[in-house]
Amino acid sequence: MKETPMEMKIRSKMLPGNLTRDGFLGDDTRELNEIIADDERLLTKIGITADEIADRLEYFYDEAYNSFEEEIIIDKTYKIKLLSVRGKILCPFSHPAGFPKGMITFTNLKYNEVLEWTPLNIHMIRDHHFFEGRNSTHRLDPEICKKLLF
Ligand SMILES: [Zn+2]
Repeated sequence: MKETPMEMKIRSKMLPGNLTRDGFLGDDTRELNEIIADDERLLTKIGITADEIADRLEYFYDEAYNSFEEEIIIDKTYKIKLLSVRGKILCPFSHPAGFPKGMITFTNLKYNEVLEWTPLNIHMIRDHHFFEGRNSTHRLDPEICKKLLF
């Protein structure tokens, strides 16, 4: 599928140094609609929805937020801590909405594996089914999310 002018505009906002230092695409050379379609296929294959992942990311984010930046452990398994950063970031999909820049660091103690995300990630997964490109610093691979968040 050829990229539309709108998709090209979105893609350019996702490059490093535009909205964020590292950008959203990593070393991914696929077109945006392909990245999203591939992850949607993966979601179907592993039997989980973008909403279910977004709900879980949001739950942990809210818990971390409400703990006033103290590190907390939930269900003896999930260690979370929020790093607040002032300011807002815009959605690269050209929504007129700003998202807080705070980032949560999440460790699944059973696997000793770490994930990090921001409110923008939650929004992009829920509303755009966008988990970021291959090898992007903050890609939240659906399969890894399924393993670590539930
Ligand atoms: Zn958006």
